[in-house]
Amino acid sequence: MKEYGHFIGGKNVAGTSGKFSDIYNPNTGEVQATVALASTAEMRAAVENAKAAQPAWAAKNPQVRARVMVKFIELVNAEKEELAQALSNEHGKTIPDAHGDILRGIETCEFSTGVAHLMKGEFTEGAGPGIDMYSMRQPLGVVAGITPFNFPAMIPMWKFAPAIMCGNAFILKPSERDPAVPMRLAELMIEAGLPAGILNVVNGDKESVDAILDDPDIQAVGFVGSTPIAHYVYSRATANGKRAQTFGGAKNHMLVMPDADMDQVVDALIGAGYGSAGERCMAISVVVPVGKEAADKLVAKLIPRVESLRVGPSTDREADYGPMVNADAIERVSGYIDQGVADGADLLVDGRGFKMQGYENGFFIGGSLFDNVTGDMSIYKDEIFGPVISVVRADTYEEALEYPMTHQYGNGAVIYTRDGDTARDFAKRINIGMVGVNVPIPVPLSYFTFGGWKASGFGDLNQHGPDAFRFYTRTKTVTARWPSGIKDGAEFTLPVMS
Ligand code: NAD
Repeated sequence: MKEYGHFIGGKNVAGTSGKFSDIYNPNTGEVQATVALASTAEMRAAVENAKAAQPAWAAKNPQVRARVMVKFIELVNAEKEELAQALSNEHGKTIPDAHGDILRGIETCEFSTGVAHLMKGEFTEGAGPGIDMYSMRQPLGVVAGITPFNFPAMIPMWKFAPAIMCGNAFILKPSERDPAVPMRLAELMIEAGLPAGILNVVNGDKESVDAILDDPDIQAVGFVGSTPIAHYVYSRATANGKRAQTFGGAKNHMLVMPDADMDQVVDALIGAGYGSAGERCMAISVVVPVGKEAADKLVAKLIPRVESLRVGPSTDREADYGPMVNADAIERVSGYIDQGVADGADLLVDGRGFKMQGYENGFFIGGSLFDNVTGDMSIYKDEIFGPVISVVRADTYEEALEYPMTHQYGNGAVIYTRDGDTARDFAKRINIGMVGVNVPIPVPLSYFTFGGWKASGFGDLNQHGPDAFRFYTRTKTVTARWPSGIKDGAEFTLPVMS
């Protein structure tokens, strides 16, 4: 059976803690590999290694660093199909969907090759008599990223590409559920010319996360995962004086106005609600139709589409979605559906107990659809993170808007309408980080930034785009005066420009 260790100092090394975690094949339910879980001492050794390698990497000019990334992109593109298969085999998303995971990561790598421009400082000539003032962006040193299971290619690349391009050394602690692709990406970085020690993958659980949060040599921590852990990581990292940006869970609403094209809405909902078995932080999990007529029409069109969703093994390229990541996920989603029924919501399509023929032990679940969900139910309040959509009915636009506005999460929200005024009002007033107008999953492209509000994100800079280059650098401002500008005599008052 395959055993994953760690990738430290430019090579694969075995774990020494004696702790391991099982990696499942979600199609069959069988354990297919194990991954070592690092001890605090192993994490410390990786950080020491990264710290020793970082100054020489930072000293290279940014164009030289960018060339490594250009080569890496070439290597990832050449190996895309194998990477997609490996990803799908551990995660359970279909192979075409795994390609999307990889491509969205590559896009951030492409943006990061603009590092020479993105790290530019500012310059003012003649800020005072004989005085020039300029600022520069410098790397932080050793930084870390802790990533979730649901995008094992994209999110590690979102983290390490900008960090490394800025001249930092990086410790990646990927999800222990699907480490194959993060480990391979690190190997490809070395093949692309990255010096050993600049990108390290240390697998692990809470112990290794805590080791990152408490390590005095780690300057900044980026995290993506569930909200309770995001909050914990943010609190502990910042209490230890580190820079932190941590992104959490979501409950993304779609408002459907009576004038919306209902066929377009249903297509959007089917993909955004059930794609990847709902295991996406930008999945739509709540739909709020405005008015009884729109709600009845929407529900009537949705039911047959949810009933006919094509669930299949992740190797079936025609499947709408594959298995969930593990048995716990099936149990969690089924438990929420039980609770929704007990709370009085109308379960129109029931995905519980679904068995995939030929894959009876796999982690499969059918799509579920609830109607008449209310704001006090746990299926509305909590992130289910599975293929379940809740219909919450509202009489007016204002009433519908209240739902996402008052929800604890603030990752994404979408409106479907043909009315420009309503769409504009929605985009302006909504207290949510990423907004879609007639777009089902409004994930910003790599040159904008990605981040949720409220309980979906802690810290004040977003992921990728220009914010990532601010997060992974610090600004130094230099005031320089040359001898010809120097006036004789000491000055005892605060210098001001007069
Ligand atoms: P998770 O919180 O269980 O795990 C995320 C990371 O934290 C993993 O590396 C894991 O090993 C580590 N971890 C888990 N428990 C820990 C603990 N007790 N102490 C310290 N570290 C711990 O999340 P997940 O199940 O891997 O991913 C799904 C979640 O991620 C969902 O809530 C989803 O919405 C969220 N997510 C958010 C975004 C975003 O950008 N906001 C993107 C993708 C996923």
